[in-house]
Amino acid sequence: MNAEADFNTPGILLRRVEYGDNDLILNVITPDRGKMVLMAKAAKRSRRRFGGVLDLFAILDLSCRGSRRGRMTLLAEASLCESLNSLRTEVAKTAYASYWVELVHFWGEEGQPQPDLYALLYDVLMALDRDRLPARVLSLLFQLHFMNLAGLGPRLSACVGCRCPIGGLGDLQFGLDAARGGVICQRCDPKPRLTVSRGALKELAWIAAGGLARAQRMRFSSEALCAGEEMMESFIPFHLGREVRSLKFLRHLRESGALA
Ligand SMILES: [Zn+2]
Repeated sequence: MNAEADFNTPGILLRRVEYGDNDLILNVITPDRGKMVLMAKAAKRSRRRFGGVLDLFAILDLSCRGSRRGRMTLLAEASLCESLNSLRTEVAKTAYASYWVELVHFWGEEGQPQPDLYALLYDVLMALDRDRLPARVLSLLFQLHFMNLAGLGPRLSACVGCRCPIGGLGDLQFGLDAARGGVICQRCDPKPRLTVSRGALKELAWIAAGGLARAQRMRFSSEALCAGEEMMESFIPFHLGREVRSLKFLRHLRESGALA
């Protein structure tokens, strides 16, 4: 029988589904083992082993039983590193965190180490909980970096049609051509679905190239934030090739003014 050794790992809880009367199936992302599915037996009864910490978005220390071939890995114990409680109690934060976590859940294969993706999600969830940056800036940062890690980052510095650098195109407005993977100038697409100025594109390029510390030192225009949201929230589902369910909730809150 091939059995893997027991192991401990940090992990972020992406999804929890009840299984039978007492068990939970958990989807987590870890730094070194990537995404994993864990079975937490009797999770709903055992406060000793799980201490009531198996909440969505929580950052946990996980003690796992090595899996036997073909069997789900068992979670033996879990303890809390960071609860990130506000992500479950403040509806706007819940909406953003749910969106990011859904993207991570559906992107890539289980068991492939993704330390950069883990670090990105960890950083934005922590920053959202601690109010280090406005949620919409964090969401843009997450989406742009997420797509960069996936090798699908939108091209923001030159037109995907004529290939002219945006700096050389005067005061033209730009649109997004999701299929061609980036921005397109008004000459190449006279009637784009959304338009964005060169200045706003530069701000988005800064967010895409820098980390949280850099974003904290900057002030972003509302044009860049609005256009960036619209761009990325259509660009990502297009490239994932699927509907992103949590986006509906996010948009609903935005339209009702609850994200202001
Ligand atoms: Zn062009």
